[in-house]
Amino acid sequence: MPRKVAPPPALRATLQEVFGMEVDAVQVIEHSWFAWAHVRAIATTRRRRIYLRGAAAQFFANPEFVLHEYFHVLGQWEPRHLSVWKYLLESFRRGYWDNRFEIEAREFAEDHRHRYCALLARHESAERLRHA
Ligand SMILES: [Zn+2]
Repeated sequence: MPRKVAPPPALRATLQEVFGMEVDAVQVIEHSWFAWAHVRAIATTRRRRIYLRGAAAQFFANPEFVLHEYFHVLGQWEPRHLSVWKYLLESFRRGYWDNRFEIEAREFAEDHRHRYCALLARHESAERLRHA
């Protein structure tokens, strides 16, 4: 069944450093029917929402995927650069891979992956010490 899942604390702290406090406004919904309705996609985003086909745990374990989807939400939907209509139009013109919203999200994920992984490792060890 579809379910809202909050990111684990270390991941949340990492996302806050990368994207700012707005990350808390984003809801991640796992096993979403809405994502299933989008034939090829493993995730679909809307304003303040990430809909996943699969489990949130798998999503949160994949840095590139997390950065990509959060960027769609906070870098594109939130400032209203992206809308359903604009996305469809881009996809119709250029397909999925060459769609400018996808190019931008992939670039963002690549550019921030190392810093994100370093921050996440730091937050995870701080978290372990806190619970030791
Ligand atoms: Zn994408």
